[in-house]
Amino acid sequence: MTDISQDKLVNALRKAVSRTSLLAEGNDPELDSAIRQIRVQISKGADAAAIQTILDNVEPLLLKVDEARLTRAKHFRHTLHDLIDVLDQHGQNVPQSEKKAFETSIRSHWQSLPHWPQLLKEYLALVESTLSHSTPIDNEKRTLISRIFRRSSSPQNKLNSQEALQQVSHTLSGLLNNLALPSHYDNQISELKKALANNHTFHSFPKLLDDVIALIMVAIGNTQEGLTSYLNELNKQLASINDSIVKSYRSQKNLSESREGFNATMQQQVQEAASAVQQADDLDTLKLLINERMANISTTMSRYRKQMISQEKMSNQSISLLKSKVTRMEKDTSSLRTSLQEKLAQAMTDALTDLPNRAAYQDAILPLCASSQKNAKPLSLAICDIDFFKQVNDTWGHLAGDKVLRLVPRQIRNALNKPDLLYRYGGEEFVIVFPNTTLEDAHQRAEAIRKEVEKAPFNVNGEPVSVTISIGLAELIDEEYEAFFSRADKQLYCAKEAGRNKVMVDNATPEREH
Ligand code: GH3
Ligand code: MG
Ligand code: MG
Repeated sequence: MTDISQDKLVNALRKAVSRTSLLAEGNDPELDSAIRQIRVQISKGADAAAIQTILDNVEPLLLKVDEARLTRAKHFRHTLHDLIDVLDQHGQNVPQSEKKAFETSIRSHWQSLPHWPQLLKEYLALVESTLSHSTPIDNEKRTLISRIFRRSSSPQNKLNSQEALQQVSHTLSGLLNNLALPSHYDNQISELKKALANNHTFHSFPKLLDDVIALIMVAIGNTQEGLTSYLNELNKQLASINDSIVKSYRSQKNLSESREGFNATMQQQVQEAASAVQQADDLDTLKLLINERMANISTTMSRYRKQMISQEKMSNQSISLLKSKVTRMEKDTSSLRTSLQEKLAQAMTDALTDLPNRAAYQDAILPLCASSQKNAKPLSLAICDIDFFKQVNDTWGHLAGDKVLRLVPRQIRNALNKPDLLYRYGGEEFVIVFPNTTLEDAHQRAEAIRKEVEKAPFNVNGEPVSVTISIGLAELIDEEYEAFFSRADKQLYCAKEAGRNKVMVDNATPEREH
């Protein structure tokens, strides 16, 4: 072999070894056998041209290994984007600038395995900063809101968002009407209602929702306890996510350390091969030396590959563990959503009488009016007020008053039809909605109600107590709801003026086609 072809051989070897060492993390049996072939060829004393041919054949294999590595990296990148989606979809208020920065990091580093732990750490930081963006409770409220409303705000649903916005604004205003908050919240409530009524974009909505939820929290009181324990739970989960990230980081670190070790070993072996080739006096010694070196290189590579496989397995396990933890977080948030819905249902129910309360009434009445007017169906409304109720309290005490407040609606129910709706409007006032009922029929029913209450054998401490109610009645005509309610209310006032225990009726009725 000439010096020049020896040089070529050494170069070709160097190239082969360094390229394959770079790609050694691919565990490709075809590549293995190609490398084995090179060794055999060298030991047979093949010249540089023959080795070059083999190397050329190896080229597509190297590309294939490269592709496999790319596919894994892409998978990892998807995983990261999935994790961001989880944050987004489950309504966490993800800080946009940090999210953008993280996405940029992903773009720059997704292909680089040693950067993966750093990317996972950045994700955790994003989760943490999402949660600690404002005070925990504030933030949690924002989360709740987003959870409730984000579900319907995907792009496909954009068309409905105006409707949804109005619906939600209305419901929230209704809810605000009777949160039974101390009077110093009155201003705040009325300001908020105004803001809700004037709000036409989802953009400014989170702030309004925050305010509403803040008031609901005040009203419901104990919800905060639930939130706190939820937050604790969430923190625990984050800690354990952190744990798995640290583990994954460690295994990645081992991996890059072992890669460094491998590179050093390989370099040394290549150098040794090079100097052996230069020092060898005859071809046989050269063949023997190269054979020995290649055997060493091959052993190193297969050891390294084994290591890489097990490390990769570990980091994959860490990622799937992380995924399952995030899934658990999702489950918890959904159970929190359910419990908030329960709380909202509670906020719609009067605790003393178990009747739907004024908020529930406010929620129902506008749609009922709208559908009655649209379908030309009659709708009547009765406002009932217990007569001289203050005396009941004054004479027999508040507890006796409460007992009467529970018994009166039971009596009222005896005279109601199934579709009729009974609400505790506040204090000792009840409102009855008679769907599909003309003024005439509603009048009969109201009379029956008045009598049911009058004849009821109320007693306190064994003593009979007479309880009566006054009722104001109206039927919906072509008018706004406020005018409708006010006509019934005026009649209630007339009934009181006329001596109480009476039903008084506003005689306006809609024009009916016959
Ligand atoms: P009128 O015939 O004009 O309606 O006289 P009234 O005494 O019923 O009316 P007033 O508005 O003067 O008094 C209503 C009373 O109802 C005053 C309030 O303390 C009492 N009340 C309101 N809510 C409750 C409650 O939940 N429990 C009890 N025990 N009393 C209540
Ligand atoms: Mg009253
Ligand atoms: Mg009264």
